[in-house]
Amino acid sequence: MPFAARLDNVETSAIRELFKLLGKPGIISFAGGFPDSAMFDVQGIQAAVQKALADAPGPALQYGATEGYDPLRAQIAAFMHAKGAASVQPGGLIVTTGSQQALDLLGKVMVDPGDRVIVEGPTFLATIQCFKLYGAQMVSAPIDAQGVQVDRLEQLIVAHKPKLVYLIPTFGNPSGAMLSRERRLRVLELAVKYQTLVVEDDPYGDLYFGEAPPPSLLALSPQVPGSADWLVHCGSLSKVLSPGLRVGWMVGPAALLAKATMCKQFSDAHTSTFAQATAAAYLESGRMPATLQHVRQVYGERARAMGAALQRELGDAVTFTQPQGGLFFWARLTGAGGKLADAGELARRAIAQGVAFVPGSPFFAADPDPSSFRLSFATADVARIEEGIARLGRAL
Ligand code: PMP
Repeated sequence: MPFAARLDNVETSAIRELFKLLGKPGIISFAGGFPDSAMFDVQGIQAAVQKALADAPGPALQYGATEGYDPLRAQIAAFMHAKGAASVQPGGLIVTTGSQQALDLLGKVMVDPGDRVIVEGPTFLATIQCFKLYGAQMVSAPIDAQGVQVDRLEQLIVAHKPKLVYLIPTFGNPSGAMLSRERRLRVLELAVKYQTLVVEDDPYGDLYFGEAPPPSLLALSPQVPGSADWLVHCGSLSKVLSPGLRVGWMVGPAALLAKATMCKQFSDAHTSTFAQATAAAYLESGRMPATLQHVRQVYGERARAMGAALQRELGDAVTFTQPQGGLFFWARLTGAGGKLADAGELARRAIAQGVAFVPGSPFFAADPDPSSFRLSFATADVARIEEGIARLGRAL
């Protein structure tokens, strides 16, 4: 078949191959990027569906505006205000079909073949694939426990003059890292200084286990004059409420949102009005704070259990930073005591022991670290986490 040449830039991810093995009975999986289905507020969503259909059945079932369903835009703006982003207006955001669609729209709107896009090393795999599909040359900026190294980022911006810089500042996937407040302000200053678009992808910022993380780049942008002109913020209900709703949003400069809206119109016309009306009714119901508290508590417990089990079962064969939020541990094999240092090989041996995780290399746009790997603590309860990490210890 004479497929479009742009498809030569991407391939199905190695991770998908691994997922095929997960059907094996008895496997404990730390491989997925999903939230736990048991955590969904089914009753609350059921009530929201009923309310949406009772209050405004027409708009909830009819075609709608590409920018999004107005009552939901108003609820999202209020949700963002509660998180410190006081400048967000309902008309200053568009609803997207998950934040994944926001990334695709950014690719369509911003990226020409050959353009440079800077991402963190490691970063969200679908982001790498999405921008590559539009012909981007991906550049990888190194991170540490405090998130992206801003001095290196500045050098890379100067060297590559990127079309955009894509960051997951809060509890990155897969890194779990949290960008410090000081570095957040530096990133905003770099956006203004080099007139470079910065994309803040923030699906995990609400999932913190102790103290709240520093404010988002969006919430900090009023402190750096001019930075709002160079900032896009992507949000999502997927990790805190339900990914099946496919409700995300994008805040950004008006001209960019107008182009994205035009592209979205040609793509899916609008995000499901039924899902949007449901999400609006849910946010309006006032249940979200309790839902957030619940998911923070459960995931926090699992994260602590996984950290303790890793230390107990793998000891100095592995290094990691205990995540303060999100869904992931990012770890490295040290090779200490002559043990395995290749995470791909460990993943194969782990499957034989009945536990699955994802090797880290595919998450790098360049210079992969073969000793790295990602463990999700989201979907297994504490007992399964402890058993799974014990199996991982045996595999090692
Ligand atoms: N960005 C990041 C960093 C993610 O981890 C994910 C989900 N795995 C997404 C975006 C997409 O989420 P959604 O489209 O469900 O909002």
